[in-house]
Amino acid sequence: MEMRHQLSDQLKRLKMPGLSNALDMRLAECRTNNLGHLEFLSLLIQDELVNREDNMLAKRLKAAGFGVQKSFEDFDFRFNEEALPATVLRDLGTCHFIERKQNLVIGGPPGIGKTHAVKAIGHEAARRGHQVLFRTTQRLLAEMQADSSQRAERILRRAVAVDLLILDDFAFRKLDQREAEMLYVLAEERLGRASTVLTSNRPPEDWYAIFPDTVVGGAILDRLVSSAIKIITTKGKSYRREVMGAENRSLGDTTR
Ligand code: ADP
Ligand code: MG
Repeated sequence: MEMRHQLSDQLKRLKMPGLSNALDMRLAECRTNNLGHLEFLSLLIQDELVNREDNMLAKRLKAAGFGVQKSFEDFDFRFNEEALPATVLRDLGTCHFIERKQNLVIGGPPGIGKTHAVKAIGHEAARRGHQVLFRTTQRLLAEMQADSSQRAERILRRAVAVDLLILDDFAFRKLDQREAEMLYVLAEERLGRASTVLTSNRPPEDWYAIFPDTVVGGAILDRLVSSAIKIITTKGKSYRREVMGAENRSLGDTTR
């Protein structure tokens, strides 16, 4: 027991909680299955590695700022197969486009699962070790103009540097000159260096109209959209209305 105590202490100093927590279980396993020393050690090291990877993933997911997390595990690929083809989404889920530094644009009517799909892609990216930042376009622009210039600076630096930047609800409203300039900085800095994802309820041909002048608008859209992978649809059923609305009604919602 003295030995066990000392070991616990040593593991704490080495910051190896994964190994420490698994120790008793692995010791028992070792006795019942007559494991060799090397095998025993290897299992414990593996426990520590798994624990560290879990922690790092949790950190990346938190830093991404998804709010409500969504993944492909809870995505019904058949629901809007025509608007959001399963093969295309699954391919995006492999994150090869992130390694190729390509952009992605998903445009289509509200409620069809655009935000869900890009959060799921962001989740896959985090699982693969990528740094992800998810924001509605509005919120990111607001954060980049925070009263504290230090905070504004920090979020701008992150938005420029992450492997995957997801701007949800792009072209939601008109932008002023300063907002357009900030978007230009993002688009220019990230072009060819890291992937940017846009979703929008409006068709891309309407996007020019949100910019204060066509020159800066053209420059931004050229960088963000021109060479992007595009899923643009006018079709698609609203999952929010058809499935979630139906669930609410069956739960006794009498408002509709
Ligand atoms: P959009 O961004 O296109 O407006 P969302 O992604 O926000 O739509 O989807 C609306 C709601 O419906 C969300 O709660 C989302 O999780 C859910 N949803 C949409 N499509 C699917 C789907 N195919 N499978 C499961 N849930 C879905
Ligand atoms: Mg959305």
